[in-house]
Amino acid sequence: MNKIYLKDTLLFQENDFNIIAGPCAIENEEYLVKTAELLVKNGVKMIRGGAFKLRTSPFSFQGMGKEGILLLSKVARDYNLFSVTEITSVKDLDLIEKYIDIMLIGTRNMHNYELLKELGNLDKPIILKRGMAATVKEWLLAAEYLAQGGNEKIILCERGIRTFETCLRNTFDLASAVYVSQNYGYNVITDPSHATGDRNLVEKMTLASLVAGIQGAMIEIHPEPEKALSDGEQMLNFEQFEELMKKVKGLKMQK
Ligand code: PEP
Ligand code: MN
Repeated sequence: MNKIYLKDTLLFQENDFNIIAGPCAIENEEYLVKTAELLVKNGVKMIRGGAFKLRTSPFSFQGMGKEGILLLSKVARDYNLFSVTEITSVKDLDLIEKYIDIMLIGTRNMHNYELLKELGNLDKPIILKRGMAATVKEWLLAAEYLAQGGNEKIILCERGIRTFETCLRNTFDLASAVYVSQNYGYNVITDPSHATGDRNLVEKMTLASLVAGIQGAMIEIHPEPEKALSDGEQMLNFEQFEELMKKVKGLKMQK
């Protein structure tokens, strides 16, 4: 498994199950601070939050932009957490590189090879989400664009794919995530929130990822999911997240 260091900390420790959690979109300071407090309480080291949101509809909330990046950076620093956010365009590279610890490439940008080439030159961990209609081979080749620039701090994220099945938001392809983790030496995480689109499935799919030997999961949480500006239906509230963390810890101990 490739070793990914950030400020002398080894992210993705061997045999660990690493949780990244936070809101779909950063909405305000109060929510983000509450989220950070919850993560610290539960031993989670990485906080996520989108500031530049790529929404299917131009009428949907597009994120707080630069203000959101600065807020995430400040809260992460105050609570000694690593920050994770999506980069959607090369134009935001300087800003995000300066303030954020781990960059996320969303499903819509997995095929944005110019962006991948730019990020390949950075010395920062990159989470590469699988394109919503990408084969495993295409996903691995996208990772090669990062690797060819010299960036080996690559984490792959299975976030569900689009299939003939429409019952859930996406089809969670856990088997492919395990396959990639076992055969290619990448740290692989899953995103049970986007993979299912349903908060009632997030806990079970997270635990399934752990049992399957995956290196971690990224989970969307919100203090008041019913009021969220995006993806409310798939975000866990704090109580549900704490319940999940208890089960994650229990299963880790059995491993
Ligand atoms: C996200 O994780 O913030 C996100 C937008 O997910 P995806 O790109 O998988 O839709
Ligand atoms: Mn989301």
